[in-house]
Amino acid sequence: MSVGTEEKTFCAVHPDRETALRCNKCDRLMCVQCAVRTPIGYRCRECARQHESRFFNASSNDYLVVAGVCGVAGLLLGGLMGALQLGFVLFALILGLPVGGAIAELALRSTQRRRGRYSGEVGGVATFVGGLTGAFGSIYLNYMQQYNQLVDQFGERVVAQNFPPLSLDYFLSGANVGLLIFVGLAAVAVYGRYRMKM
Ligand SMILES: [Zn+2]
Ligand SMILES: [Zn+2]
Repeated sequence: MSVGTEEKTFCAVHPDRETALRCNKCDRLMCVQCAVRTPIGYRCRECARQHESRFFNASSNDYLVVAGVCGVAGLLLGGLMGALQLGFVLFALILGLPVGGAIAELALRSTQRRRGRYSGEVGGVATFVGGLTGAFGSIYLNYMQQYNQLVDQFGERVVAQNFPPLSLDYFLSGANVGLLIFVGLAAVAVYGRYRMKM
């Protein structure tokens, strides 16, 4: 080795990997695999994690609030849309995402805009489950109402023979498809809103 050759430097985690990259926070040497890209430059895993935990400041209670707000909003939404028979696919495609965004905004406000690592998942799933429950609930009520009206008019025996049974196929038929798309899109929007950087 001749004098003047630059000294070789190695990753702090992987001593066999030569690297000149340094964490912009703690100055530790890191190989390409150890470097994590953050909005404020490349950092070592440890510093990136610290930065993330400052970003994710939700308490465990916040998860309950997010689940509650999104679940109830989804339930009301699914139920209302089902009751009003607003299960048009076009309607769902236009309004599903903005309505989901509004639900996420409501959840953010309810928790002083705090977020956790899993807020998006919790909010999205709660919206979806709440929405499906509301949608299926109102589809069921619509069905029973129609059924009972027909029974009053024609008698139970005739209706039982001619009315479609209350099956999964029934739930997934006709206008209900739009309702399910609506609920799905709203849930995706809640998840997406939480994944967005502030
Ligand atoms: Zn570092
Ligand atoms: Zn490494």
